[in-house]
Amino acid sequence: MNDTTAAITGIHHITAIASDPQQNIDFYAGLLGLRQVKKTVNFDDPSAYHLYYGDEQGTPGSIVTFFYWPGHDARGRVGSGQTTALVFSAPPTSLEWWQQRLERHDVKVERKSRFGEEVLSFADPDAIPVEIVAVAEDNRNPWTGAGIPAEHALRGLHSAELTVAHAAHTEALLSNEMQFRLVKREGNRARFEAGSGGSGRYADVIEDSTGKRGSGGSGTIHHIAWSVPDDATELAKQTELQDSGYQVSPVMDRDYFHSIYYRERGGILFEIATATPGFAVDEPAESLGAALKLPKQFEAHRARIEELLPPVQPAKSFT
Ligand code: ZN
Repeated sequence: MNDTTAAITGIHHITAIASDPQQNIDFYAGLLGLRQVKKTVNFDDPSAYHLYYGDEQGTPGSIVTFFYWPGHDARGRVGSGQTTALVFSAPPTSLEWWQQRLERHDVKVERKSRFGEEVLSFADPDAIPVEIVAVAEDNRNPWTGAGIPAEHALRGLHSAELTVAHAAHTEALLSNEMQFRLVKREGNRARFEAGSGGSGRYADVIEDSTGKRGSGGSGTIHHIAWSVPDDATELAKQTELQDSGYQVSPVMDRDYFHSIYYRERGGILFEIATATPGFAVDEPAESLGAALKLPKQFEAHRARIEELLPPVQPAKSFT
């Protein structure tokens, strides 16, 4: 095998669990200014929404998605064995702008520095950790349809923060089967990169042997998906991972991409997803996310599903 085959190119999407779809739309599409690129249901539970946010087309590396588990009993705990933050990138000159915008809307912001980059750290309404990292070189085109000026708009995901009790197995999986390269270490954090490297292609492994183990539920991240260009690459990765002893799922048709799932040895659920066919496969690119789209196996039950789903509005606007 050579380096041009069976390669993961970076992050595809990160999926988290929230409690309330409208509150979530207002935060991610309104306050953070991402485009809602798909309104569908959880394919494993069609009585609940699955909402997707990203850039204009929902390009791999820009996408965050949410399931909704309402109520206090559905709360999870952020901790080891999970992807533990949604980390976006924005130009360095916009960090102050973001801090003011967030604080104006009562979001408490902390400033950090990591690997020489400035970071704004805050939490979404479900207490999921969110960060904006100042990145000088990120040429991805931001979505500006939510009214955030292009010079400030978020460029997409920056890195995947993977927190595990013992880093060795996770680091070995990234380096070997997944072909990431170690970039640098700082304290208990090791940064790896995939493909051509840079923002959207980082995986940070954090070793936290003293903290609590995470438990799934609202307010936590459910899984991280890595991007591959096509089905052939996905199938090759499936075989390689199985050969290394990983339990890998069959290929699942998620309508907008094809996916396989496996759990890395630190406990984090990983997915590999294809860059194609993308979100314009079942609705026009201009109106992505506006109408409720159902996978064909549920289309016959549309009336019942629409009755069960709480009505949601487009994001409220923030100034
Ligand atoms: Zn996924």
